[in-house]
Parts: sequence; C-alpha cells; structure tokens
Amino acid sequence: MHPPPTPSSGGAPRKRPVVRRKPEAAAPVPVDAAAQHDRPVSLGGLLEQISGYLSEADLQQIRGAYRFADAAHLGQYRASGEPYISHPVAVAEICADWKLDSQALMAALLHDTAEDQGITQGELVEHFGATVATLVDGLTKLDKIHFSSREENQAESFRKMLLAMARDIRVILVKLADRLHNMRTLDAMTVDKRRRIATETMEIYAPIAYRLGLNQVYRELQDLGFRHSHPMRYAVLGQALRVARGNRRDLVDRILAATTKSFSDAGIKVQLYGREKTLYSIYRKMQRKHRSFAHVQDIFGFRVIVPDVLDCYRALGVLHAQYKPMPGKFEDFIAIPKLNGYQSLHTTLIGPTGAPVEFQIRTETMHRVAESGVAAHWLYKTGTDAMAQATTSAWLQSLLDIQNENRDAAEFLETVKVDLAPDAVYVFTPKSRILALPRGATPVDFSYAVHTDLGNQTVAAKVNGELVPLRTELHSGDVVEIVTAQNSRPNPNWLGFVRTGRARSKIRHALKVSQQAESQELGRRLLARALTHQGLRLEDLDPGDWGRLLHWSGNRSQDELFADIGLGKRVADIVAARVRLLDTATDDASAVAPQRGALQLDGSEGTSVHYASCCRPIPGDAVLGYLGKGEGLTVHLQDCPQARRLFQKHPQSWIDLNWSSSVSGLYQAALVVVVNNGKGVLAKLAAAASEHDADILHVTMDDDSSSQPTIELRFLLAVRDRKHLADILRAVRVHKFVVRAYRAKSRA
Ligand code: MN
Repeated sequence: MHPPPTPSSGGAPRKRPVVRRKPEAAAPVPVDAAAQHDRPVSLGGLLEQISGYLSEADLQQIRGAYRFADAAHLGQYRASGEPYISHPVAVAEICADWKLDSQALMAALLHDTAEDQGITQGELVEHFGATVATLVDGLTKLDKIHFSSREENQAESFRKMLLAMARDIRVILVKLADRLHNMRTLDAMTVDKRRRIATETMEIYAPIAYRLGLNQVYRELQDLGFRHSHPMRYAVLGQALRVARGNRRDLVDRILAATTKSFSDAGIKVQLYGREKTLYSIYRKMQRKHRSFAHVQDIFGFRVIVPDVLDCYRALGVLHAQYKPMPGKFEDFIAIPKLNGYQSLHTTLIGPTGAPVEFQIRTETMHRVAESGVAAHWLYKTGTDAMAQATTSAWLQSLLDIQNENRDAAEFLETVKVDLAPDAVYVFTPKSRILALPRGATPVDFSYAVHTDLGNQTVAAKVNGELVPLRTELHSGDVVEIVTAQNSRPNPNWLGFVRTGRARSKIRHALKVSQQAESQELGRRLLARALTHQGLRLEDLDPGDWGRLLHWSGNRSQDELFADIGLGKRVADIVAARVRLLDTATDDASAVAPQRGALQLDGSEGTSVHYASCCRPIPGDAVLGYLGKGEGLTVHLQDCPQARRLFQKHPQSWIDLNWSSSVSGLYQAALVVVVNNGKGVLAKLAAAASEHDADILHVTMDDDSSSQPTIELRFLLAVRDRKHLADILRAVRVHKFVVRAYRAKSRA
C-alpha cells in the first residue's frame, strides 16, 4: 500500500549542528523556553542519542519504524513548512531523553501514521508487533465522522487515551512528548489554533504531567501554554523579569556564597543551585495575591540537594540559623508527600536585602522523582521511585473506576479535570490516617475517599469534633469524622458541591441503582394493574409465559421489563394485552384498545415518580399521571393547565391515579401569603408552619417590598396532605397582618 522506503531518507545529518540539551535538571528554566529547543532533528541524531542505552537490535527496529513512518508521511508537511517526519523524530528524541524503551520509541515514530495517513492496526501489528500497535492505537484520536461535534470527539478520544494509558503508562509519556513538541513549535499555527491548543494543554496535559510527577515537562508545558494563550502578558512579564534578573544577580551570588560556607562549616555535603521561577508561576502568584510584578520579590529560589533524609532537616536548621524564616511558609513534603509522590522541605527565608527567598531541600532520590516522576523509572532503572509508582498506579486505578461508572465521555472528562487540579489539602481520619484531597473537598468527598459504603451511608459530619454541614470545605489538618445511618442513601444535592471525581461518580452510580430499583417496582405495579383489566393476575404467569413475553419484548429479564414500564418506555396496557394473546398466533398486540384504571400512589415510589413543579400535587388532590418516554411517571393536578396542553399532544401517555388511604411521605406545596408590611412578620409565619410540623423549604418576596404597604410572600412547604396544608393555612390566617393566604397551583 505504501511505497518501499528509500534508504536515503534516513541518517543524513542536516546543516545545523546538533545541539544537545543539558540534562541538568536544576538549571534555571529558560525564559524563552522554545528557543532553547530549536535543535534540528534527524534519524542520525536520534540514533546517536539512544545508542548509549539501547542494543544494536533495538536500533535496527527503530530504523525500521523510522523508514515506515517516513514513507507514510512522504509528501506531508508541517505548518512550519518542514517535512512532517521531523515531528515524530523530535517526539522520539524527547522520549529518548527519558530513556524510554525501544517499543515506546517506535510508537513515538509511528504515532501519527494511523490518524493522518490511514495506516491500519493490522499493518502495524504485522510490521512491529502487537505491543507497538496497541501503543499507537492509544495515541490515535477517534475518527471524526462518528461524532456530531468536535467537543464530543475530543472527549471520547481523550477517554480512549486515558484508558490506554491506564493499561500502559508509555502511552501517556509518548503523548506528553508529542504535546511538548507541538507546543514548542506552535508559532507556525494561526492565532486561534494556538490559543485553543494552549488552553487544552494547560487544562489537561500540564496537570497530567504534574500528576505523573513529570515536573520539568509540567513547568515547560505551563510556560508555553501561558505564552501562547496570553502572548502580550508573557512578553511584558518576560521583559520585566530580564531587568530584575540583572539587578539581582549579585544578591543571588551573595546568598550562594554565604550559605555554601555555612553548610561546609556544619559538615553537610550539599549541591546548591540557584533557580529562577517560571514566568507562569510568577504570573500565577501576581494573580493570586493581586500584586504587580514590582511587588513579587521571590523570583529566585535555591535548591539544596543532600545525601540523605536526616541531612535535609540538618540543612534546614543551618538555613534557619542564618536567615530568619518567614512564619507560615515552612512545608514538610518529606513527612507528607504530595499526591504525585513529590518530596522536599520548603522554606522561605528573609534574605540579606529583606526580600524573601525560597529554599527547597531534598535528597538525590527525591530530586529524581521531583523532576521526572514516573519517567524516573526508565531514566534511572532503580527501585527508589516506589512512591511515585504507587501513587501513579492508585490514580490510574481510580480513573478506571470512574470510567466503569461513567458512560458519558464529556462527564468523564470533567471528572478527570477536577481530579487533576494540583492543589491538595491533607486531612485526618479519627484514627489519624492521613488523606490527601483536592482543595475545596468536602466531608462527602472525604467519606467516599475512605470507602464507598461510608460515602453512601453518610448523614452528617464532624470536623474537629463539631457537627458541620456536609458542604463545608475541608482544610489541611482537619480531623474528619463521618456519621452514618444504615439505610440512608446519597442525596442528589451532594452533586452540587462534591469536588472529587470519585465521589461524583459514586453518587451518580448509587442514585442510578436506587432509581432502577424504584422504577422496577413501579413498573411491576403498573403491569399488575393493567393485567387485572384483562382478567389476569401477575402472580399467575408461569415461567413459560414469561419466556414468551420476554422474547416478544426483547428484554433480558423480568426486572428489565418492569423497569422499562416504570420509566414509560413501554405501556403497561400493551404488555398486558400481549400477555392475553400469548397463546394465540396474532402479533398485533397494539390493536387491543388499552383499558384504563387507576394506579394507587402510596408514597413509596421514590424517584420513579415525580410531582410536577407547575401544579405541585399533594395527597387528597385529584390527579393524573403522565408517562413520558424514559422519564418515569409525572403526577399533575387534573386541572393543571400545563397537563391539559400535554394531554392534547400525547393523549395516549396518561394514566389515572389515585391516592392510597395509607399514603405516606412529604410533598411540596406552594403557599402565597399577602401581608401588611411590618416587623417580625416572617418570623411569625415561620412559627405558624413549624407549630404544625411543616418545614419551610424556600421563601421569596417581591424585590421592592420595603416601599409597598403590602408584600407578597411565597413559601414552599413540605406537607403530608391537603388536610395538613389546610391546618397551616388556618393558622396563618389567624394573624391580623395577613391580608390573604392561599395555595398556589400554577407557577404564574
Ligand atoms: Mn503528533
């Protein structure tokens, strides 16, 4: 299908010399990062780079992948005008910087062949084996034609990639290399495209790099993202930083000299580096603290690398003896590592000129993990990165959990975005177990993080010994205790404030399951009622009848058929008529005119029955039921105008309803009370309601109430039935300031 590769396509070095980036991780991050990565790419350069750690057989395979990719991309050019193959080679070079294995490098070279050039999975398997083909597949976006919008395609493609990455971490490493190179070469794109790709990078790829502990990649992606999403701010800030850097050079040297001496006096072996913060991190600080650049003083920091953990604390002591530490700025990420496994001591000191200077203190091993995260596994081939590995695999596992409960790709993407937020708070269980949660997390997030069952049974929470609302935001150091009740279940309102993807997806799942059970029960009752009109009883159906009925309906189980009926996807009367016809040959069940009879509501229906918010029916009212397709049963007042309109459109979707004499539960009723304006009016009305044991769910009043002689208050109450409501109305009307009080039966 593709022309055989020409031997001349590889290996020929281009004109410019190959510039190697120094792997020195602690070097200052360049202000203009892209300019530093403008090295020419060629197969020769790549092979030279990997010959240091891969075998000749590996190199042979990589040459093969290069030739294949080169042939596939022949005649294709990048927006910059370069031959397309320069991009996959550059991606492979970044992977080689991380010392990834030959399969990952081959996938890097081939990563765009399937998407852009229509190379099939089969061809890749044939030439390069199943593993490489699977890696490439994980990097390939889904075919655009199957989606109605770009957002949908993006969300679905992203989900596919994350799942592939959960199975094989190399997928995301190659993807990050791909994104890094695209970001470094973004200048060739149109302004619109640049902004879109930059935003996506900052929202998704930079946080993933952070989560995997690839801090170097994280910083570069963020800085490039900032540069392309806010080019003006980036330029202005960059200029200001260049000036400031010149001014403060001697200050850095002074601190370096002074601290070097102190460390050597104390007998601690240290490597000491000055480091400059990235433009983006300075920009973030300015935004967070609402400061101008002139007021952001800690643009420099230092990194201290010591032989072992104890030296970290000794070094800290030396620094604190030399310069005063800023109160509240010391953080011990050694005792409590960050979510991505990062460990260090952070402290901010007041330098010789009074400007704050940040120090990070860590061991060599911590430093590797800090800069390279999971990639350290390939980079150093040591077992010392167990922490990063463990936290990474826990995160990947949680992605799979979320996926299992979330079929909607857009929802999945949102969930993952929240989980990727880098800020964390650290809270404690009553038994002093420590838990890391994203900033903004609530006790509900906490309980789901501990255990799904604990989350599902949560009714209240204590923070530091005091009862708090479940929506309370947790802070580092809080001790959180969850109060549970055996039969309680998640409240849909929780979805309005939970922060973690895990809690969100667990709550949705639990709600779906309980709604399923309730729909089944409603469907069973609807079918039983419909059968009695055919002179049949549900209990009399034998397994043979069921088999034939399910065969006809296409449902896999009785419960599924019940659920379909309860959700309004099937009409009970038609199913009942079919049961009657089971023994006869005719197939035309719908020809039997449905007979109608009343279904009894007893309050046990749960979420399978909704009470229409236009008319808010309560027990005792004359009501009708509307079975919308897939929406379950909605109860309306018989004289509701909205219901009348719906009836004209879908007369076949209505069933008669009445209330069971043993109906239970609370129902929402709207009450309008017109009062003479005065002090304490609201309190007296609230007292009237509570004397009669009715909760006020909501109160509204006219906006310009103060200038009017009378005002109209609207209450939403939880009541048991019509009698209960009548009692409350009577108690309200007793007050002299009440001009009028009545139940509102329509929204207007
Ligand atoms: Mn690419």
